[in-house]
Amino acid sequence: MESFNKKYEYEYETAHPENGREMEEMSKEELYRRVYHDTITGHYNWNYMWKQLDRRYMPAEFEYCFVHFDIKDFSVINEVYGHYVGNDLLRIVCSRMSEEKDWIHYSVRCHNDNFAMMTKAMAREDIIEKLENFFESVSVLPGDETFKVYYRCGVVTAEDSLSKDDQVADWAKFAQKLGQKRDCTEINFFTTEMYKKMQQDKYYLAYLDQAVKNDEFIVYLQPKYDIHTECIVGAEALVRWNYKHEKMVFPGEFIPVFEENGVIGKVDQVVLEKTCKLLHDMEKEGLPLFPISVNLSRRRMENEHLLDQLVNCVDKYGVSHDLIEFELTESSVYESEEEMLHLLGELRSLGFKISMDDFGTGYSSLSLLLNMPLDTLKIDKCFVDCIDADHEEKKECILIKAIISLAKELKLCCLAEGAEEKSQVDYLRKNGCDKVQGYYYSRPLPAQEYVSKIREMGNTE
Ligand code: C2E
Ligand code: CA
Ligand code: CA
Repeated sequence: MESFNKKYEYEYETAHPENGREMEEMSKEELYRRVYHDTITGHYNWNYMWKQLDRRYMPAEFEYCFVHFDIKDFSVINEVYGHYVGNDLLRIVCSRMSEEKDWIHYSVRCHNDNFAMMTKAMAREDIIEKLENFFESVSVLPGDETFKVYYRCGVVTAEDSLSKDDQVADWAKFAQKLGQKRDCTEINFFTTEMYKKMQQDKYYLAYLDQAVKNDEFIVYLQPKYDIHTECIVGAEALVRWNYKHEKMVFPGEFIPVFEENGVIGKVDQVVLEKTCKLLHDMEKEGLPLFPISVNLSRRRMENEHLLDQLVNCVDKYGVSHDLIEFELTESSVYESEEEMLHLLGELRSLGFKISMDDFGTGYSSLSLLLNMPLDTLKIDKCFVDCIDADHEEKKECILIKAIISLAKELKLCCLAEGAEEKSQVDYLRKNGCDKVQGYYYSRPLPAQEYVSKIREMGNTE
């Protein structure tokens, strides 16, 4: 402690030379108070926690959980109720933290509405229970009992805090930021996998343009089969990332982060371009041509030049429009419904086909089925997974039958995704489904394998 205070004295004097004299006269206690306490609440501040986190001052292998949290909508509280109320709330939180001596070793107000605690090493369930009770006890706003205060909290367990003590605060803050919901208190635990994924996502985003330049995105094709003739009648283009030409990365790993950040169009455009080139090459070879569908991400609807980009790309390769189908996921519908309907209408009037992907999942909008210019309804794999031919009275079976008849009534083609078993295909056929895309018939294939399949088909006919 002695050396720490000395260091602080030196830093303070260097930063505030005019206060040098005042410093000399200040007692050690006063100095200590100023360094380690927060002026608004009188509670400990981040300097204090920082010192506690230094392993050099801890007993060897000391175990603790680290907690970091903030108040949801704190700026609203300040703006609506005034800073006095906001400050009162900060004080209440601090005083409640100091009362919980049996499980909180150290607690501080870090800055603004951010707080941190070092607690006893506890099992997950135990710390959740403690924290929930704690947040409940500070959930009333001083002066307005009707206003419920919610918190966003990140926790690093004892195991993780032991392995990397110098990063523990960043990790807890990272977990804290995962709390995005409104009107509830959220407690999120840090995991190393989660952190690695976040770092990887950031890297993927930064690297995307280079990957496009290096031609790292490739297209696989999963054939679609006519359920009666069991012949290929089309395919879906599915992207794969030949990452740095070293390893194959599947879309589940990168599509969500690209969608979230609005850059998915760069990938979708590569896929469309490669699909068109393939159809162009197949036509040159005189092979039979079947429509290929490409995924059209909802985030691309924000791009006002989208229609031109799509049409120009297809026309550049002289591909007939009816050979390209755009697959929209259901959730795509919500952001800007009017623009989307307009775009789909334009695409359809230019001869492209439109299908609704993953039907039955996410935000179902039955009314949209009536307004949307559509050719195909793709029933999501989760329904197909539930088919149980021996128990047709099961709710899932009833539902899938109803979806098929809905598609028929609306004069749409009905395609089931992800069928893996013969019994599923038989059931779908019996109930009027038109097409199937699933491992039962074929997995997604590299483009050349798909072409070979079509070539063989042509030879046997
Ligand atoms: P999706 O559009 O629903 O594509 C179907 C996914 O289901 C594909 O996974 C396919 O390989 C898989 N699948 C098909 N049949 C079966 C089956 O019988 N069993 C099982 N277990 N899986 C089956 P994939 O290729 O990993 O793609 C996952 C998702 O990534 C796609 O789901 C789509 O939402 C997205 N995606 C793929 N390529 C693109 C793309 O070029 N652009 C955009 N925006 N999204 C893409
Ligand atoms: Ca799809
Ligand atoms: Ca799908």
